[in-house]
Amino acid sequence: MSRHDDDTWDITEGVGATALTVARARAAESDAHCPLYTDPYAHFFIEAAAESGWQPAFTEETLAHIGKADDQVLARMKTMAAYIASRTKYLDEFFTTAGANGLDQVVILAAGLDTRAWRLPWISGTTIYELDQPKVLEFKEQVLRRHNARPATAYVSVPVDLRHDWPQALQQSGFDASRPTVWCAEGLLPYLSARDQDLLFERIDELSAEGSRLAVEAFGRDFYSPELMERRRERMAQARQAAADAGIDEIPDTAALWYIEARTDVADWLTDRDWEVETIDAPDLMEHYQRPPADPDVVPDTTFVAASKI
Ligand code: SAM
Repeated sequence: MSRHDDDTWDITEGVGATALTVARARAAESDAHCPLYTDPYAHFFIEAAAESGWQPAFTEETLAHIGKADDQVLARMKTMAAYIASRTKYLDEFFTTAGANGLDQVVILAAGLDTRAWRLPWISGTTIYELDQPKVLEFKEQVLRRHNARPATAYVSVPVDLRHDWPQALQQSGFDASRPTVWCAEGLLPYLSARDQDLLFERIDELSAEGSRLAVEAFGRDFYSPELMERRRERMAQARQAAADAGIDEIPDTAALWYIEARTDVADWLTDRDWEVETIDAPDLMEHYQRPPADPDVVPDTTFVAASKI
């Protein structure tokens, strides 16, 4: 699927399917012997997508086959699973800490199959706005309804493209820019062009009253470098070969959906606009949660940014 300014997608297509990949990782972590968190809904999404013909490339069974074919490929996959587990836990804690400090207006950008509105303990009076492509949110709500899952607090779905006028859609849905907000952008930025990323943060800044908080999975300069892209291509070829040896025809190539462009540094940009910024790099985050990478070389060049508007 090649990208263009007005592309749209369903949950099993292109950028939409990346939300399923994250849900699969969350389902696997939830089944782990000592999980960092439990997402009881993640399996439902995978099952529902499978009913419509989508097949996850990676299951416990296929991973076991891949492991036999190439243990280096397996170590990389385990590293990515540990990365997603750490990222999820970090953002769970970010939200609960913001709630414990009285913030009760939450906006999850590119929510995908994030189920925090259903599974986290929110303070009373919290309203959560989730933004993503219409078909992605429709799929999510249908699946959760079918399983009688109820949000743990007031939930407002805002189906919109984040390259369009989402501030208007958000405000028309009841969002109040005069009140402090908790924002989150997880697993989003590579799917936006550098220009759309800049616009996203300008809009967040404009809509953020004093006391607002923002968490971002920010991608470092090296993330988009030609050297790293080349290494990724080589690893992808190796993974495809290991998958083929294990009898798996196709594995998703998320890098093909990214905009490979130099980006504004998120932490610097926020600091320049009077946000108080704390950062932690991915390897340190994984260390913090005791999920050390099986292959340190494939830990994404990302920094987790937590900022407060002062
Ligand atoms: N944040 C979620 C999580 O971590 O579970 C989902 C991450 S998934 C890797 C990327 C998500 O970004 C998808 O749900 C996709 O639909 C959404 N997304 C990417 N670009 C978008 C855009 N321009 N407008 C709306 N949603 C977008």
